[in-house]
Amino acid sequence: MREFLDLLALLCLFSGGCSMSPKAAAPPLSGERAMEHVRAQVALGPHPPGSPALEKCREYIIGQLRGYGYEIRTDEFETETPYGRKVMKNLIARKGAPDRPVVVLASHYETKLMESIEFVGANDPGSSVGLLLELARVLADEKSSLDYWFVFLDGEEAFVDWSSFDSTYGSRHLAKRWQQDGTAAKIRAFILLDMIGDKNLDIMKETYSTRWLSDLVWETAARMGLQEILSKYAGAVEDDHLPFLRVGIPSVDIIDLNYGPGNSFHHTTADSIDKVSPDSMEKVGRLVLAVLKELQTQSRPRK
Ligand SMILES: [Zn+2]
Repeated sequence: MREFLDLLALLCLFSGGCSMSPKAAAPPLSGERAMEHVRAQVALGPHPPGSPALEKCREYIIGQLRGYGYEIRTDEFETETPYGRKVMKNLIARKGAPDRPVVVLASHYETKLMESIEFVGANDPGSSVGLLLELARVLADEKSSLDYWFVFLDGEEAFVDWSSFDSTYGSRHLAKRWQQDGTAAKIRAFILLDMIGDKNLDIMKETYSTRWLSDLVWETAARMGLQEILSKYAGAVEDDHLPFLRVGIPSVDIIDLNYGPGNSFHHTTADSIDKVSPDSMEKVGRLVLAVLKELQTQSRPRK
């Protein structure tokens, strides 16, 4: 993704006290389990679009999800890139409750193609993929008024330089498809996770995100006493949520773009397994679960 506005100081969002015990409300979600998924991805080495390693990554993701009882759909397409035509595959895991409003939980799963370095992307995208798989396990048998879809997007990263043409290949393709087939209208919320495994979590308030949905995330975090993982800064980030926003789906990007001093670990060999924290992934996972509970209580989609 690309951040391209100056960070703006936010007003204090946390004047309320913490009334809820996060421990009591915590579902059996495990940062350590998410970490196992991160290790499995890193062990594949670099896995950019179209690579045999990405095929192995897909097999791993699909194997885990099938084990939790999900049905997997593959959204395969061919697209022009600065490196010629590439086949890409988005994965969509569902249990199938067609009459319920849908909430999508998403991450990209390919690593950025970096020919001069061995880039394994432990945090980007290892952590968000690992946490999505753990959330899929926890939510597999939950009784809910919502239908949860887990979406793994191909081709988020630019091959050369980030542009509207060279980036977010998978999300652009899937959002267009969902607009054309009417799926977009059934989606109450799209929650994107990106770079959420940093030991020093610093999740920024992303300003393209749908206001009511990002407010809901922030208010829920404050209520849970999770201010420590939030940044006091806000800024606009181009990421996989934008194509879904463009087709009218309320969307939020939960992202920490302060990875290492001055974001210096981002897209470097420093994005290695030792930088990723099970505790951070668990906190974000608990926050997402609490936000899903809030979304269940909404009788109508908000605009
Ligand atoms: Zn990236």
